[in-house]
Amino acid sequence: MTTPAYGAYAADKSLEPIEIERRAPGAGDVQIEIAYCGVCHSDLHQVRSEWGGTLYPCVPGHEIVGKVSAVGDQVTGFKVGDTVGVGCMVDSCRQCQSCQEGEEQYCTGTGFVGTYNGATQDAPGHTLGGYSQRIVVDEDFVLHIRHSEDQLAAVAPLLCAGITTYSPLRHWNVGPGKKVGVVGIGGLGHMGIKIAHAMGAHVVAFTTSESKREDARKLGADEVINSRNSEEVESHAGTFDFILDTVAASHDLDALTALLKRDGTLTLVGVPEHPHPSPNVGNLIFRRRAIAGSLIGGIAETQEMLDFCAEHGIVAEIEMIRIQEIDEAYDRMQRSDVKYRFVIDNSTLAA
Ligand code: NAP
Ligand code: ZN
Ligand code: ZN
Repeated sequence: MTTPAYGAYAADKSLEPIEIERRAPGAGDVQIEIAYCGVCHSDLHQVRSEWGGTLYPCVPGHEIVGKVSAVGDQVTGFKVGDTVGVGCMVDSCRQCQSCQEGEEQYCTGTGFVGTYNGATQDAPGHTLGGYSQRIVVDEDFVLHIRHSEDQLAAVAPLLCAGITTYSPLRHWNVGPGKKVGVVGIGGLGHMGIKIAHAMGAHVVAFTTSESKREDARKLGADEVINSRNSEEVESHAGTFDFILDTVAASHDLDALTALLKRDGTLTLVGVPEHPHPSPNVGNLIFRRRAIAGSLIGGIAETQEMLDFCAEHGIVAEIEMIRIQEIDEAYDRMQRSDVKYRFVIDNSTLAA
């Protein structure tokens, strides 16, 4: 079915209207009319080919919420009219150990199929994401949304920013009695603060934007540090159980590893275009500190996160945009000028 979308034809081109084809729903598929789609910094990295390997035309978008408009014969979990979400994955091999353990994002068979730029038999041979009016997805990769209807736009960012912060916070057992740092208060970081706070941790926000100090407290931070003020940073040396680094640009990690307690972990989720400077080994070995990485979260865990957020009244802080404003939104995101996630009103695709 022909579907209006927005995409880019090359790394140095603006996004523009583009007609794409969605497959007719197969037996196990759910067809979704997209109401809103969040704008992740990964969309920008991908469209501008900052990671290399971008396939064009590129239609980004992996923070998708909307309504089911059709289901295949064998779909059991969803019906027409349901409010649903789709995150960063639309398929995986389903057989490897990671898939069987519900960690599809770490699929070692075919690798997970990204919601955009992933391999598919559908035209044009790679997946096209949520900057579009509709999408067709296997039901195993569709999520139930249990927030109230009026929160729908602000739920969209949970599908990537929410799960990418929830998963490592859970994996490294963040909770009461733990001192947790969240570095970079953008789309991911602001969700990290809210979720870590709801998990009961003592949360310390690190920002380079003095203007976000007050906001960070409102989001749930117990303390806020200007990461450019070395005195302020160093006063917390050796005190953190866990630090989640969401920064989208290359930066020095030593100032952060020095803040960890013995056996503490610094987990990187930001994926900058250029590598971070090599970390100081001494900082790590003398306290058995670790630097780790984490990728989104599995489908079951994404549902768990959505339900956790619904129960705790957690949604993203958003600025709604029309699809026609997407290039300007990217430029503002590049300048850390977003409070705290742009969300596209997909009805503007029809304009
Ligand atoms: P974002 O909204 O742009 O937020 C990034 C924040 O990092 C900025 O708001 C800013 O916060 C801080 N920052 C930016 N440039 C900086 C610099 N030069 N030095 C220090 N701090 C800087 O981006 P996002 O959507 O949250 O995504 C963050 C990163 O995570 C991106 O690289 C994205 O691709 C990646 N990502 C990874 C996964 C995963 O599965 N691992 C999933 C989604 C996204 P302050 O103003 O507070 O300093
Ligand atoms: Zn994302
Ligand atoms: Zn697999």
